Amino acid sequence: MEKTSVDSHFREIVDKIEDGIMVVSRNGKILYANHTAVLMFDLQESDGEYGHFGFPLVRGTETEMPIEHPNGVSIIASVRVVEFKWQGEEVNLLAATDITAVKGINKLKQEILSRHKTERELQNRTLELERSNKELEQFAYAASHDLQEPLRKINAFSDLLIAKCQNQLSFEASDYLKRMKDASCRMSRLIKDLLDLARVDMKPSLFNAVSLNEQMELILPDFELQIKEKQARIECGNLPEVKADPVQVRQLLHNLISNALKYSSKELPPDIRIRAKSLQHGMIELSVEDNGIGFDEQNKERIFKPFQRLHSREDYPGTGIGLSICKKIVERYGGQMSVSSCPGKGSVFRVELPGA
Ligand code: ADP
Repeated sequence: MEKTSVDSHFREIVDKIEDGIMVVSRNGKILYANHTAVLMFDLQESDGEYGHFGFPLVRGTETEMPIEHPNGVSIIASVRVVEFKWQGEEVNLLAATDITAVKGINKLKQEILSRHKTERELQNRTLELERSNKELEQFAYAASHDLQEPLRKINAFSDLLIAKCQNQLSFEASDYLKRMKDASCRMSRLIKDLLDLARVDMKPSLFNAVSLNEQMELILPDFELQIKEKQARIECGNLPEVKADPVQVRQLLHNLISNALKYSSKELPPDIRIRAKSLQHGMIELSVEDNGIGFDEQNKERIFKPFQRLHSREDYPGTGIGLSICKKIVERYGGQMSVSSCPGKGSVFRVELPGA
C-alpha cells in the first residue's frame, strides 16, 4: 500500500484529527501517517516515504511513549495499536494521543497531594511535640510543687531547732544549721525559678493590650529597699502598650531590673534607663540599660541558657535562670532578646514584644 494510493478525501479528513494516526507494516515500515502523527513523532519525509517506525509496537495494550524531538521538546504520547487488514495485507493501525498536558496536570496533582501529605505530617508532628512539651511542663510543674514540700519541712525544723535549742548549740553547730538553711532556701529559689521557666508556655495565649508604664508602676515598689540602699536611679521614659500577658510582662521587667540593680558596680550608684522604640512589623523594642559591672561579650549567648552564670554566687546570689525565663517569654511572642555589654561599663538588654 503506497501513501499516494490513499484516497485524498480520506487523507484530508484524517489529517484534521488531533490524534496521530499511522499505518505501519508488520516489519515496521510506515505506510501512512496523518499530519498530527508526522508532528507528534517528528517523522521525516523522503521521497514520499517516512521510513520505519522507531518504537516497538505492542498490539492490544495502551502504551505511554516519551518522544524526544531534536528541538528539545519532549512529549508523552499514549499509543494504541490494533490489527488492521488493508488490501489483503495484515498491518498495524496506530492511534496516538498527546497526553503531555494531562501528564503534566497529573504530576502537578501528585506534587500538590504529596505537599499536602508533608504538611499534614508536619502538623501532626508539631501537635505531638506541643503535646509532649505540655506534658513535660506539667510534669515539671507537679515535680517542683512536690519538691517544695520537703524543703519547707527542712526550713521549719531548722527554725524550730534555732528557736528551741539555740543555747545548747555550739558555735559550730549553729553555723552548720545556718548553712543548711541557706542551702534549702537556695534550692527553694531554684525550684521556684524552674517552675516559672516551665510555666512560661502554660499560660493561655489570648493577649490584651498591656501598658508598660502601668506594669512598671506595679513592680517598682518591689525594689524600693534596694533602690534606697544603693541610691539607685531608675529612669523610665514614656513606654507604649504591648500585646502580651501582663504577668509575663511584669516578670520580664522584674528580672531585667533586678539584674541591673544586682550586677551594679561598687563604685557608682546604679543608673538604670528603660526605653522603648517601635520596630518594623509592629514590634516594640524595650531596652534596660545599666552602668553596672558588665561582662565580656563572648558570653552573650551563654547567659540566656538555664543555670549559666558569669559571676560568683558569694558576690552575686542567683540561680542563673532569670534570663532564660525572659528569653522564653520574649520568644513566645515572636520577639528576640539580645544584649550588649562591656566589663566595668555596663550592659543593655533588649527585648522585643508585639505592640498593641
Ligand atoms: P542570675 O542573675 O540568677 O544568676 P540570670 O539568668 O538573670 O541569672 O543571669 C545569668 C547571668 O548573666 C548572671 O549570673 C550574670 O553573670 C549575667 N548577668 C545578667 N544580667 C546582668 C547585668 N545586668 N550585668 C552583668 N551581668 C549580668
